[in-house]
Amino acid sequence: MVNSSLKQLSYKLFPGQCLLCLATTHRPKDICRGCEQDLPWLRTRCQRCALPLTTDALCGTCLKTPPRFDRCLACWEYGFPVDGLISRFKYHGDRASGALLGELALTAFKNQSADALLPVPMHWRRQLRRGYNQTELLAAQWGTALDIPVLRALKRVVATPTQQGLSARARQRNLKGAFTLIKAEQVYGKRIVIVDDVLTTGATANSLAAILRRAGATEIMVWCLARTP
Ligand SMILES: [Zn+2]
Ligand SMILES: [Zn+2]
Repeated sequence: MVNSSLKQLSYKLFPGQCLLCLATTHRPKDICRGCEQDLPWLRTRCQRCALPLTTDALCGTCLKTPPRFDRCLACWEYGFPVDGLISRFKYHGDRASGALLGELALTAFKNQSADALLPVPMHWRRQLRRGYNQTELLAAQWGTALDIPVLRALKRVVATPTQQGLSARARQRNLKGAFTLIKAEQVYGKRIVIVDDVLTTGATANSLAAILRRAGATEIMVWCLARTP
């Protein structure tokens, strides 16, 4: 608690300090121009799942077994130093990192249109322990900036063990029955965006997309900060 208010205070006192190299940025952004340019911006990628590729095309997985969502948009390739900023935001309560990533990522979504944003839900027990859900913070920021409503129609009903280190198949199994849609009528006939921080195997997004599809969502996109190579 003390730690997070100290962080907020220092953020207010010294605006425009680069969160990566600590240099003064001389602009109302917490990243300097050099560090911003050096971020692992996602350029050529799979047109469906945003997997980094050498040309804009469809990846082998999407050709063979397309995901349940229509399209994933990501801003960066998951790697240094974005991975560090994401973990500061996700696990250490660093709101400044989250706000910066969220703001920069908007460049990837600004020409898109959608009816609603749905943050990937966290189990209430984990959220209680962490104090916040990073995908809800991102959805709130993007929703405000792009004027798209944020729905809290999904609930995580099973506290699934962490997905880290599991194979794609094991991840999918791990998520069986993990989510439920509490307000199905809110997604019927709508173009929905699932908001996540990182897309790895896509198992979570796939599970959610299947539920949303069954409830009558017409288009399902995933917007995330970073995509693992
Ligand atoms: Zn810098
Ligand atoms: Zn793909």
